[in-house]
Amino acid sequence: MQAIQIERTGGPEVLQLIETDPPQPAAGHVLVKLEACGINFIDTYHRSGLYPVELPAILGLEGAGRVEAVGTSVTHFKPGDRVAYPSIPSSYAQYNAIPEDRLVKVPDNVSLELAAASMLQGLTGHALTHSTYPVSTDSQVLIHAAAGGAGQLLVQLCKMKGARVIGTVSTEAKAEIARQAGADDIIFYNDEDFVAEARRLTDGIGVDVIYDSVGKTTFLPGLDALRRCGTMVLFGNASGAPEPINPALLMQKGSLFLTRPILFDYIATNEQLLKRSQDLFSWLQNDEISIRIDQQFPLAEAATAHRLLEGRQTAGKLLLIP
Ligand code: NDP
Repeated sequence: MQAIQIERTGGPEVLQLIETDPPQPAAGHVLVKLEACGINFIDTYHRSGLYPVELPAILGLEGAGRVEAVGTSVTHFKPGDRVAYPSIPSSYAQYNAIPEDRLVKVPDNVSLELAAASMLQGLTGHALTHSTYPVSTDSQVLIHAAAGGAGQLLVQLCKMKGARVIGTVSTEAKAEIARQAGADDIIFYNDEDFVAEARRLTDGIGVDVIYDSVGKTTFLPGLDALRRCGTMVLFGNASGAPEPINPALLMQKGSLFLTRPILFDYIATNEQLLKRSQDLFSWLQNDEISIRIDQQFPLAEAATAHRLLEGRQTAGKLLLIP
């Protein structure tokens, strides 16, 4: 099979197209023939070494396809089933072997591309808006990179819960995409002081919660855009990892709450994975949310996709079609 492997960490140039044997499904594992692989920012961290992985490594965590074969003791899946998953390494490939309890069935009227495009960012949106900080009709929410893959999902889910959403973006084109997702107000955080704007838009009070996937450039100033006892949900580092802070700063800025969540802790059990996936697929089936697939690439063009993602040239999901 073909796959995208790294032998060393570095820029997009370290991504290599290789020929290798497909994995065999061990006991309790399901061999999936992938029809679409999701690209996520975390893949660039694995590639660059920001989040270390054992080398050599086939990159990628997310995919959707059809069951090719099952290992012994697999009970819930059979060959031909349409399936998807958000969090198993070695996914930039034509085949991947997935533990049965990490796999979900895809409803008939959800395409496999859409399933691959929605799992990681959609389940993240679910976890962050339903569990990390349960958003409500009373919430005033600031979402950074609101036209990004995770950002668009968060905007839609916060609007579904009736919140008021302020989104930050870098360009007018991205502002339009964030508005289409439902953002009530847009701040151009490259050109405007987003803290002053967020406070102005909330009558000087500050927002209840910030969903910050940008990190280094937004995290520290963001503490000043929160209301008293507000919550900072720092969930990514698109601009780099923020500097450490002294916990006393949270007191000085108004008894703030700070959390640094990662999806995998919110889908740690099969029950959690299935419950959140059921909600996600039901929202997709009922057109309550939509996923913007920005671009699709053949496996061999994974490096191009990484360059675009890291270069802020994308607005939505990137897929590899193996
Ligand atoms: P996005 O589609 O959001 O792409 C990143 C966006 O961040 C860019 O398009 C850009 O939007 C903005 N950005 C701001 N500054 C920079 C910069 N210096 N370099 C690059 N981009 C910048 O990517 P994802 O939705 O895949 O992921 C976003 C972040 O969220 C990543 O850090 C990812 O790891 C994290 N994440 C974390 C999860 C978790 O479980 N904790 C789950 C999913 C994602 P603009 O041009 O508008 O500024």
